[in-house]
Amino acid sequence: MQLDLDERVNEELIRAKENNRLMHAYLFYGGDNKTMLDEALVFACNLYCGCLNCDTCKSILEQKHLNVKVISLEENKTMITKEQISNLEAEFSLTSLVSGPRVYIIDGIDTASSAAQNSLLKFIEEPQMQDEVYGILIAYNLNNVLTTIKSRCGLMRFMPKSFEQIKEDLENDYDADDAFILASLSNNRIVCSNIFNDSNYQIIKNLVYDFLNIVDSKEAILFYLNNKNITKDNLQAFLKVLINFYHEALTLTKLISSQIYDKITLLKQNKDKSDIYQKLTYLLNLDTKLKYNVVEKNILHELILTFF
Ligand SMILES: [Zn+2]
Repeated sequence: MQLDLDERVNEELIRAKENNRLMHAYLFYGGDNKTMLDEALVFACNLYCGCLNCDTCKSILEQKHLNVKVISLEENKTMITKEQISNLEAEFSLTSLVSGPRVYIIDGIDTASSAAQNSLLKFIEEPQMQDEVYGILIAYNLNNVLTTIKSRCGLMRFMPKSFEQIKEDLENDYDADDAFILASLSNNRIVCSNIFNDSNYQIIKNLVYDFLNIVDSKEAILFYLNNKNITKDNLQAFLKVLINFYHEALTLTKLISSQIYDKITLLKQNKDKSDIYQKLTYLLNLDTKLKYNVVEKNILHELILTFF
């Protein structure tokens, strides 16, 4: 099993354990989901043994250990539900069948509603069980975590992975173009898989392909007319992919063959670096405007005017 760990966080947690000053709950943020989840499981291993190879460690890493419970987004769900949290609390209110510290890991606490997070508050505060209990909360957007939760946890900031690293991870499960698009949209594998299975995904992918195939202004107008009723979310996703497209055109060194990469290679060959850089700047600008609620149609219009 290939574990992705954040060296600094890992050392800090090991040191805290050695000095007997572990906190009851930690909030992980800033990293991609594999690294943060691996780190949470390794934290649990370290409470038992830490070799990462014995049966105990293996069962923790494989999420089969009875005392280590992982809650994550269920298939096709975009949030941790209140029910998942109350089930967790119910389970932890019972005595465990095996001895040793107990750990709960909530992967995506930021997706839980305020009510669900609130219900967890008491649980974090008052561990009524006889056993040692530790919680690891993993957040992808710290802004969506209640202040009351943050203030009760040890905050652990992870170094984010680059677009390149996330894309490479995704290439194990998706083809080059899908990995490219998905890595542009999220650094969370489960979220990526949900995006991939969502009906909007094909719309976004077609937008990208259509855009990359435009060669003259006549088609640019057609592109505009075909897409002027695009939703804000889809337009935002589309811009994110385009931003990475132009970014890759500036930085790509290896040769990959796919529809998207063939276009990147062409762009590199035919355009000046300064020209690509300028386009990238325009796109970042449009992305910001969209965040400030400029109407979708106007953004698309500006995109066409700027590019053709
Ligand atoms: Zn071990």
